[in-house]
Amino acid sequence: MATALAELENEVRRQLALLDYPAHPWVPPRGEGVLDVAILGAGQTGLATAFGLRRQKVDNVAIFDRAPPGGTGVWTTFARMRTLRTPKHVTGPDLGVPALTPRAFFTARDGAEAWERLHKIGREDWQRYLDWYAGVLGLPVRHAHELLGIGQEAAGGLLELRFATPSGETMVRARKLVLATGMDGSGAWLLPPPFDTLPEGRVLHTAQAIDFATLAGKRLIVVGAGASAFDNLAVALEAGAAGATMLVRRRRMPRVNPFRWMEQAGYLGQHHALPDLLKWRFTRHIFELNQPPPQESWDRVADDPRFRLVMGAPIEDARMVGEEVEIATPRGAFRADAVILGTGFTFDLGLRPELAPFAPQIRLWRDAFTPPAGEESALCGASPYLSDDFAFQEKAPGAAPALRHIHCMTYAATLSMGLSGASISGMKHGVPRLVDGLCRALWREDAEAHLAALRAYDVAELTSTIPQELLADAAE
Ligand SMILES: Cc1cc2nc3c(=O)[nH]c(=O)nc-3n(C[C@H](O)[C@H](O)[C@H](O)COP(=O)(O)OP(=O)(O)OC[C@H]3O[C@@H](n4cnc5c(N)ncnc54)[C@H](O)[C@@H]3O)c2cc1C
Repeated sequence: MATALAELENEVRRQLALLDYPAHPWVPPRGEGVLDVAILGAGQTGLATAFGLRRQKVDNVAIFDRAPPGGTGVWTTFARMRTLRTPKHVTGPDLGVPALTPRAFFTARDGAEAWERLHKIGREDWQRYLDWYAGVLGLPVRHAHELLGIGQEAAGGLLELRFATPSGETMVRARKLVLATGMDGSGAWLLPPPFDTLPEGRVLHTAQAIDFATLAGKRLIVVGAGASAFDNLAVALEAGAAGATMLVRRRRMPRVNPFRWMEQAGYLGQHHALPDLLKWRFTRHIFELNQPPPQESWDRVADDPRFRLVMGAPIEDARMVGEEVEIATPRGAFRADAVILGTGFTFDLGLRPELAPFAPQIRLWRDAFTPPAGEESALCGASPYLSDDFAFQEKAPGAAPALRHIHCMTYAATLSMGLSGASISGMKHGVPRLVDGLCRALWREDAEAHLAALRAYDVAELTSTIPQELLADAAE
């Protein structure tokens, strides 16, 4: 099979060569070491954005990630499902290049029959595809770079990006910054009250590193009924937990996954063009439906006698009683040795160290739009109100001019731009829209220089010497 993958890599190069038009780089350099675009996050979104820019001949790009090689994203870090939740035929990072699609990769690696038999792509396998993708494209990733802060040069307006690296702090100057920092990239994973009062180690979140071996023989409470809550509960039972009680606020188990409805070119391709009220109504409904556990995650625990499900049990209180955690709900009190929170994330730009200084100036939907009575949504209201190139807007014009150079490609872009950042399903339409927006911004900023270059353009296409005898006299 090694040869099939090698052949596929040759095919990737062949297809890119076939598609290589127009081939001329066009962004004027801005000086030694200055990037045209810095991308924060070497997960699928950051990688595909770099590839998309390269296809538009914007090559002076680098991807930064605080994680070491093999530690980026969620797939081999804290995701705990066995397979992707997304159907296997999804495309996205390939940006329309057939040889770069997940199907091409897995078919080359495992064979066509194996692909036909495959139900859904394994989560570790998805990361192996992304690693292959980054390798075959030679994408410029700088690992172990944590963005600490964003400044702006007084005169030129270049962004000054301050990174922590193993060898100390370093500064990188760039024209544009893309935040491809994932689900929690515009806020944080939620550790809501009253759980923030419990001792560390007694309350865990599905998005943190968990040593499940330490939960063997323990009684657990899992809060929430989303996919991650089920996946973490399953891993805990598989690691030998004595029992796991899932407490769910809703009275009925969510069953409908809006993402399956969203996987259509209409919504993915055109949500960004809707008027604000409709954007709000689509997204509020999607956020409120949330994602149910995929059938596979439910099947993993449903028949386990150690699993107990309690619906209609919103959390009223949480406290330590001796060595036990006690959680109070309208359905009674529940005790356990530890709690795993499947409470998701929130949007709050002030919680991001790299954005905190700017956060008060970033225009949010609650600053720009007032929903009709009864249609309020805290999560929608906290979403950044983005421009058509995914850039932040200032609440007060002139207060933070750097913001128009910072492009938000996290899950928080969903309201303004449709599903795009932090989603496999949204990449096919979202990444090209971001790339087009970045190119538009770069071109507009340099338009005068490009016009001057056009006016100065004097490369002769007709190089033949015109013989004198061909030039007839005017009088004749
Ligand atoms: C458990 C789980 C399962 C999911 N399953 C699916 C699914 O089946 N299908 C689907 O379509 N979507 C799924 N998603 C949603 C989404 O596709 C994933 O979150 C995916 O990882 C998003 O990719 P990304 O590149 O946008 O962000 P990430 O993969 O999260 O990558 C962001 C990167 O940014 C880096 N970073 C963040 N802050 C900084 C900083 N300050 N400095 C430097 N680096 C930084 C991080 O180290 C990380 O590597 C899932 C999400 C989760 C959490």
